[in-house]
Amino acid sequence: MEGEVISRNFIEQIIDQDLKEGTYKKVVTRFPPEPNGYLHIGHAKSIILNSGLAEEYGGSFHLRFDDTNPMKEKTEYVQSILEDVKWLGADFGDTVFYASDYFDAMYEAAVKLIRKGKAFVCDLSPEQIREYRGTLKEPGKESPYRNRSVEENLELFEQMKNGAFPDGAKVLRAKIDMASPNINMRDPIIYRIARMSHHNTGDTWCIYPMYDFAHPIEDAVEGVTHSICTLEFEDHRPLYDWVVRELEYEYPPKQIEFAKLYLQNVITGKRYIKKLVEDGVVDGWDDPRLVSISALRRKGVTPEAIRMFMELSGVAKANSISDMAMLEYCIREDLKRKAKRMMAVIDPIKLVIDNYPEDTTELLDIENNQENEDLGSRKVSFSRELYIEREDFMEVPPKKYFRLFPGNEVRLKNAYFVTCTDCVKDEQGNVTEVHCTYDPATKSGSGFDGRNVKGTIHWVDARTAVDATVRLYENLIKEGDEELKEDYSNLNPNSLVEMNDCKLEAAFAQVEAGERFQFLRHGYFCADTKDSTKEHPVFNRIVSLKSSYRPK
Ligand code: ATP
Ligand code: MG
Repeated sequence: MEGEVISRNFIEQIIDQDLKEGTYKKVVTRFPPEPNGYLHIGHAKSIILNSGLAEEYGGSFHLRFDDTNPMKEKTEYVQSILEDVKWLGADFGDTVFYASDYFDAMYEAAVKLIRKGKAFVCDLSPEQIREYRGTLKEPGKESPYRNRSVEENLELFEQMKNGAFPDGAKVLRAKIDMASPNINMRDPIIYRIARMSHHNTGDTWCIYPMYDFAHPIEDAVEGVTHSICTLEFEDHRPLYDWVVRELEYEYPPKQIEFAKLYLQNVITGKRYIKKLVEDGVVDGWDDPRLVSISALRRKGVTPEAIRMFMELSGVAKANSISDMAMLEYCIREDLKRKAKRMMAVIDPIKLVIDNYPEDTTELLDIENNQENEDLGSRKVSFSRELYIEREDFMEVPPKKYFRLFPGNEVRLKNAYFVTCTDCVKDEQGNVTEVHCTYDPATKSGSGFDGRNVKGTIHWVDARTAVDATVRLYENLIKEGDEELKEDYSNLNPNSLVEMNDCKLEAAFAQVEAGERFQFLRHGYFCADTKDSTKEHPVFNRIVSLKSSYRPK
């Protein structure tokens, strides 16, 4: 029992306490994206954390579009966010919430504050407001409009709403404390005048609430109990608390901050991803080199792997940087039993078995996944001419090279031992064909134990091979650099390498877009959901088999 308590994260500890003390009866959490871009892996952390807590405590989880700012919102973003949250498997029930549905409630809340003498209309210009605000070292100065009567404030605020004043001419401010050491508490602006069309409410409003005022109201109206956000809002918490206290909600929500997810050498942050998309550095929000959720999905990453990654990286109060290698470890862990293991030659060269009969094709029965019998087996054709990887042959091998070179014997995976005899070259001296002989006694599964070989290579039967394109990805930023330079001079030229002449075993002719496989010796690959067809499969490398991460 004690072990369990210790392993609970700091948010669970707060919730446990709240439930024990009866502060709340039921846990309600939310994820409040601003629909001004696509979601990324950092948002996935918040989604999985919030929906996971709701599930754990038998509460509910709200998806709420934080669309109070009319400037940047787009329906395209709303659609993509819905798709991403569903794909991650977060259960937000049957209702999608929109903060803009509460504009009336927010207006009423502002009126309530005015009536209580806790808000006032201020005529200072934006420059003056800044000047009066003071600094971290010096207290601010009170606005000369601070002591307007309740009646005057009510009247002016209503006129603001009715469009009597030009944009920016007046604001509504909370009346808190100009001497507060926390600048957020120095009579913050809670409403501004702005004639902007809103995607939901059109031109109904020409005044809009500020985030710090709107957000606690959104939470309270929905009955959210634990409003979990990232660390940059820590200094705003006193204002959050002030708003829910002054508005006298029966069960005021509480804000809890946790550390954002950062990935070493990887571009997260909506703003930065958006710039890459707009500058055409990548091919859209779902370019598999990005860590937007749509990009990860298109690349072939599973929601299960992302969840495992969030589990491993934990929830903390202090900032830290996670490693992409850990996410890659989770992907391999998730796919190792799920994915069929098949043979694909990415950079092909012909291998001719000179002593194999020309008119013969054998069908070899090969298990689809040695770690998971449930995936069954398949027939793979084998004949005299095969494709192998160009790098699996060397005319003059270096030390410790155990693959094909003249005179050396290797195992063809799931087939026979072959001994390299020779190679054919073109006029430029490039190897175009490798020749070998096979030993019929060495057939895989025959129990042959006459001798051992050190190298095993994979192959694809040339007679039945499927032509395909394979896309290999590396980090966008050049290795060794942490940040992408403004002028993109340190983009990794190999962030995308497209191999267009790949040869896959015949079973790949039936592949569906989005299907994932292990390509033996290469890694995990997913048929691209945009470009792959039955006629010409296109695969994205999700992750290679090599790992630099060791779980603790
Ligand atoms: P970005 O930081 O990429 O610009 P944002 O914070 O502006 O994103 P919002 O739509 O406002 O994006 O975020 C929705 C929620 O996702 C917020 O509660 C925010 O705290 C959370 N969130 C954003 N980035 C991360 C991250 N890297 N790790 C964890 N949570 C995050
Ligand atoms: Mg934001």
